[in-house]
Amino acid sequence: MQPLVDAYERKIDYLRISVTDRCNLRCVYCMPPEGIDLAESKNILRYEEILRLVKLAASHGIKKVRVTGGEPLVRKGIVEFLHDVASVPGIEDLSLTTNGVLLKEYAWELKDAGLKRVNVSLDSMKRDRFLKMTRGDNLFEVLEGLEEALKAGLLPVKINMVVIKGFNDDEIVDFALLSKTRPFHVRYIEYMPFNTQEGWQRDKCITAREIKEIIEKAAGPLEPVAESGGVAGPARRFHFKGAPGEIGLISPVSEHFCGSCNRLRLTADGKLRTCLFSDNEIDLRTPLRDGSSDEVVTDILLNAVREKPKGHTINENIFKKCSRTMSLIGG
Ligand code: SAM
Ligand code: SF4
Repeated sequence: MQPLVDAYERKIDYLRISVTDRCNLRCVYCMPPEGIDLAESKNILRYEEILRLVKLAASHGIKKVRVTGGEPLVRKGIVEFLHDVASVPGIEDLSLTTNGVLLKEYAWELKDAGLKRVNVSLDSMKRDRFLKMTRGDNLFEVLEGLEEALKAGLLPVKINMVVIKGFNDDEIVDFALLSKTRPFHVRYIEYMPFNTQEGWQRDKCITAREIKEIIEKAAGPLEPVAESGGVAGPARRFHFKGAPGEIGLISPVSEHFCGSCNRLRLTADGKLRTCLFSDNEIDLRTPLRDGSSDEVVTDILLNAVREKPKGHTINENIFKKCSRTMSLIGG
């Protein structure tokens, strides 16, 4: 078995799969109000095509899979698909990123299907603001979904908060306090530049370092959490002493973690992206559909990994925003 290793000796063992470009919300930093031009459904990979790729990738060292979108829970047949992915030999960790609107309904089925854990995106716990940020009045459903995920044992239940100056930065401390009383892992994500109407500006991005300072000033010291084996993610992890939950700081903008990047992304329309911020995409849909052998598809995968860029250039003058939004790439 030839492992997936890039030109900088990074071992690639993590695949993020977007199963749809559709979504039941319209977050301001991700989509325009009318939604985006959706791919024709014939251009979206079928589950069996994705599964073939997962099997090939797993036989070359992919161990960890995250399913995302768009909103993965709006795609029909998602539970069966997750069950099939969980059954692929070599896949040790299967997780899902969701906006949580449908999570209450699906939590137990997901657990039974073999899903290990969920990340739920939540940027505000205030109803009006949630509505403003997502253009959906679904805060209550998401909060219920979080509780159901805990009950179903999709652990740890992580809450992803994208922090945007002037939008929701006044809720940083409220989210942190949640981890003091409940077993949620609250993760703060720096606002990243994608091609949305919202218009990313560097000064709207509050850095992970600033977020930590804000939390500690208001709620007390944070202690580092020791890594407990497995593949360390990009979050720097902390907790309040004795707290049931955790805090994670993810700094793709201010302190990138490209040097230890272990991931590949598959878009819903069958393109492989070796870097979130590079518009370079490798077409896998055509070889998956034109009768190409497993060897040919595997070679494309191995070659793509060899070409994985060293890192992104958000903080350099030459940086240009990604032409696709997160909902298309698969966040
Ligand atoms: N719909 C699902 C959800 O919202 O969790 C999965 C897809 S969504 C594109 C994945 C993640 O990308 C979400 O946590 C979302 O907050 C994040 N995201 C989207 N646009 C972003 C941006 N400009 N900066 C930082 N995170 C972003
Ligand atoms: Fe939909 Fe997720 Fe994008 Fe929000 S962040 S619009 S929930 S895909």
